Formats: sequence, structure tokens, C-alpha cells
Amino acid sequence: MDIVRKPIKQLKEQLINQIAAGEVIERPASLLKELLENSIDAGATLIDIEAEKGGIKRLTVRDNGCGIAKDQLGLALSRHATSKIARFDDLFRINTLGFRGEALPSIAAVSRLRITSRVAEADSAYEVEVTGEMAVSPPRPAAHALGTTVEVLDLFYNTPARRKFLRTEKTEFKQCDEVIRRVALSHFDIDIRFTYDGKPVFQTLSADSDITRNKRVARLCGSAFAEQCVYFEESDGGMTLSGWMGLPTYSRSQRDLQYFFVNGRAVKDNLISHAVRRAYHDVMYHGRHPAFVLFYSMPPDQVDVNVHPAKSEVRFNDTRSVHDYIYRTLHRAIAQLSPEQSETQFPLSTPGHNPSVPPVFGTHQGHGQRAAQQQFRHLVQEQLLAYEAMSGVPETAVEHRLQAPGGVGPDVGLASGVAAERQDIPPLGFAIAQIKGVYILAENKEGMVIVDMHAAHERITYERLKWERSEQSIRSQPLLVPVNLNVSTHEAALVETYGEHFVALGFDINRLGEEQVVIRAVPELLARVDLERLVRDVLSDLQTMGRSSRIEEANNEILSSVACHGSVRANRRLTIEEMNALLRQMEVVERSGQCNHGRPTWMSVPLAELDKWFMRGR
Ligand code: ADP
Ligand code: MG
Repeated sequence: MDIVRKPIKQLKEQLINQIAAGEVIERPASLLKELLENSIDAGATLIDIEAEKGGIKRLTVRDNGCGIAKDQLGLALSRHATSKIARFDDLFRINTLGFRGEALPSIAAVSRLRITSRVAEADSAYEVEVTGEMAVSPPRPAAHALGTTVEVLDLFYNTPARRKFLRTEKTEFKQCDEVIRRVALSHFDIDIRFTYDGKPVFQTLSADSDITRNKRVARLCGSAFAEQCVYFEESDGGMTLSGWMGLPTYSRSQRDLQYFFVNGRAVKDNLISHAVRRAYHDVMYHGRHPAFVLFYSMPPDQVDVNVHPAKSEVRFNDTRSVHDYIYRTLHRAIAQLSPEQSETQFPLSTPGHNPSVPPVFGTHQGHGQRAAQQQFRHLVQEQLLAYEAMSGVPETAVEHRLQAPGGVGPDVGLASGVAAERQDIPPLGFAIAQIKGVYILAENKEGMVIVDMHAAHERITYERLKWERSEQSIRSQPLLVPVNLNVSTHEAALVETYGEHFVALGFDINRLGEEQVVIRAVPELLARVDLERLVRDVLSDLQTMGRSSRIEEANNEILSSVACHGSVRANRRLTIEEMNALLRQMEVVERSGQCNHGRPTWMSVPLAELDKWFMRGR
């Protein structure tokens, strides 16, 4: 084949920009993201966004930030010019959203761009325009308050190929809207206004109190989410995780309400997703996704943000500890969504219903509640015995937490009348009756409680099995016929690296050759699962995450099904004592607000609600 050798030439500046722009400026939403980041970096407290026709015809961002000086306007538009970093070292302690000095020139290369800006010390604002071939007009005086307006017209007018990749105006608008929402969620101190095709889309005022922040979240994520989430905050050795965590009962079919910010930057990160997913795993239906708005902050030198041109990915120095911290913190917070927690932290209603000022986990966990429980120990102990008799399984997990002094006579017949007189009524109250062999009706301080008997028992059994597993070492079962598995060299190496990890879980798995491993024994609990798939999945997790939770997840699935089949079935008659025992057990067992499938196990109807039903004024 003949090859025509072409001369080597220096590319024109504009062409370089257009090539590079592909990385950052793919669509209106991506340029909007860059402009908003610039406004935030400039210290703006007010950002006004206007868009027309999907943001393709026009996209304008106006802010009240520090502005750009007249003699710097041209520089701002040249490539690799930035005010945010100066030296190589600065790359490792970035505390601005931007730092690459590429956004403005990249945008200018594919649109008609105008910047108008005024700094505090100048007597006037100045304006520059960029026309084809990257010719920047000389600054001319203009009218503008302190701050900057960047106006982008006719995106991709000179790069038709790229324009073809744009979707419908409606889709482009939606993406812009999402970008603005992310900024609004992560910068509560900024007033944001968004106008589309001349009509206001939304406006959020800066929020500096719990109430205004909650309102803003409700405005941006919907009131259903706001009613079914809890706020929490946790710090540990320079790391802080906080935010709004959707209750497991508010699961979604899509991952469309998941916001995770690292040092104020919205990021997509497999490691983080994995940690969050795992934390919710136990309480989430298969195929359902949790909703959350979470903020993670850490020292800037522990995280590399210079990973992806769009700056939407990060790399952590210590992946393992970040993963574990996020997982542990969320897992604990979810575990605390038990009835006991609910009673002290938010009004009893549907598990975790609508805290107007959300509770903070971790710090003050119902001390008054504890004292009340002390007095009930003998009672509880009594009821546990009844429970034990009912379920036929000896208590283990809960017993040690209750250690009754013993000896106090039985206090049965605790139904309605007596309960009402008592001062210290446990969170889930006392049982009154069983309805249709499925539900337990109880009365507590607030009013009425209804429990799904089977779901509640299933959760309790599951937690107990898990606890037992954690107390005993996992039993290993040798395979009659060892299983050989062909894997990649890298995966085979992982088997060697994580040898101990596998042994601890009851596996006997060894590297046979360059690309082969052999499985000789498996944990007893897993003897019946698809081994080959499990091991492959685990290896692929190890490869991407540096660790794996799949073995545990598979374990839990089995436990969960054992729990389901071993639990009180519907239509079994329970005595009042047995029902009370179940209620007491629910109060102590973690996560009993949801069954293993993420359905609620109990609901409460406060007296006020009952009054409403019967239009009874009080
Ligand atoms: P980067 O943000 O990575 O520095 P940009 O191309 O986005 O690169 O912007 C170049 C420079 O222009 C910034 O470093 C900043 O000094 C200035 N700049 C851009 N937008 C604004 C703004 N809205 N307010 C103040 N300065 C701005
Ligand atoms: Mg920038």
C-alpha cells in the first residue's frame, strides 16, 4: 500500500482548542458546569442563569463574584491560563473547583462568547468578545455591577460534527437543570436563579439554618424525599460525612436521586457507590436504589482531583480507609433507624416519617429512653422468655444487653388499660390484639401502633443469625470434586494476595498456574450457591475496589432466606405476651424498622391522626 507522507505542522491554536474542547465541552450542560464553577471559585453569593433552546442558542451566567480585571480578560481566554494554581505542588492541594485554565478558551473555540466583568477597584466594567480564529476584541467599557457575566451564543456553530451529537432541546435542558441542582445542593450559601426560555424554572435563596437547608433540599429533591430522609453528621480524624440519607422505605427504581460531593465537588466514583450500596444492602429490595445527598470532606492533599478533564472523578490516596469510613458510618446510621431511635428522634409514625428538623445520629442517642428501659427490664425479660417459648430459638443476640435483675413477678395482662396508666411506655407500646392473624395492634404513648408480625420476626431472626455468624468462626466444607477455574493472570495473583481473606471466610482456594485457580473448600453456608460465579465476582470486585463484600452479601442473602422461612408465619395465633415479646425484641434489634426486603415492619398512627379521621377537635 502506498502511503503519502504528509509534512508535520504546528496546529493552529484554535484547532488545538477545538480538539481539547471535546474533552470538556460536550454539550450545554458541560459548559454550564464550567461557568458555574468559575462563579463559585470567584466567591459569588448570587448566580443568575439564563438559557434558551436547550442552552444551545444562548447560555448566560451572571455572578457577583470578584470579577476579572480589564488587563486580565484576554488572559482568561488563553489556554492553560489560570489564577487558581501557580506551581506544580499546588496541584496536590486544590481548594477551588477549577484549576486547568482550559474552560473559557475551550468554550470560546466552539461558540460566540462575550465576557463582561467588573472588579471592585475599577471605575467601570469591561467587555471582550471572542470571534472566530480566537481573535479576542480589545476590552471596551461596559455597564456591569461587581462580578462577571459570561454569555455563550450558538454553541458548536463552527463544529457541525459536534452539533450533531446534541440531543433534543428538552434533553439538553434537563441536563442543564441537573447541573444547576447539583450546585444548588452543594452550595447552600449561594442564591441561585434559573430562567429558561424567559420563564423562571427555580430560585433558591441562600440557606444558613437547618430549616432553610431542609427546605432547599425539599425544593430540589422533592418533598417526598424530604419527608422520608434523615440528616446526619459524623466526623472522624479529619474526615466528615454528612447529609440527607433516604430511608430504606423510600427506595427508587433508578439511581436518579443520588448525590455525593467530595469537598464540594459532585463526583461519580465506583468506590463510593460500592460503599453506599453495601451500607444499604441489608435493608433494600433487590433492584431498588437508595436516595441520598451526601457530603464527604477530607484534607485536599488526601485526594487527587486532577484525574478527569471534566473533573467529575477523583482518586483517593487511601482508597481502603475512605471506603470503610463511608460504609461504616452509613451502615451505623441505617442500623440506628430502629423504633427506639424513632421515638426519641422523630415523632413516631411510618418508620422515620417526616422529621421537620432531622435528627443527628451518633451523638445523642436517646438517653432518657435508656433510663426508661432500665425500669422495664424485668418486664422485658419476662416477655423474652415468652418469646423464646414461641419461637423455639434460644435468645443470644439480645440477652446480654438486657441482663435483668430477675425475680420480679410476671406482669401480664398489659393490654390497653394498664398501659395507659403507666408512665414509661416502651416505644412500640403494648399489644392489644392480633388482626386477621397478620398484624399486631398495640398502643403506645402517641396512639396506635400496627406491626406486620411476619416481617418483624423475619428481621429479628435475620439479625440474630448474622450475629451468631459473627461470634462463631465460619465453618468450611470441603468439595467432593475440587473446582478448577480459568482466570486472568491478574485475578490469579489476587487469589494469592488475598489468601488470608479467603481462608477467614471458609474458602480453600489456591493458585494452580499462571491463569488457573482451584477451589477445594467453601463456607458451609455457601455450599449451594453458584460457586464459579461467586468467586469470579469476588475477584472482579477485588480488582476494582481493593476489597470485596460479595462473600458477605451472598452469605447475608442465604441468612435472609433462612430467616424468612424460620419466622412466624401469618395466621398463627399469638398470645398477648408473645406479641409483647415481639415488640420488645423489635425495640432492641437493630434495623427492625424494615424487614429484610426493605418493607416497613411497623407503622404508627398518633392520636391526633385518629382524631382527624373522626373529625374530633381537641
Ligand atoms: P480555571 O477555572 O481552570 O482557572 P477557566 O478557563 O475556567 O480556568 O478560567 C480562567 C480564569 O478566568 C480563572 O482562573 C479565573 O481567574 C478567571 N475567571 C473565569 N470566570 C470567572 C468569574 N466568573 N469570575 C472571576 N474570575 C473568573
Ligand atoms: Mg474554570
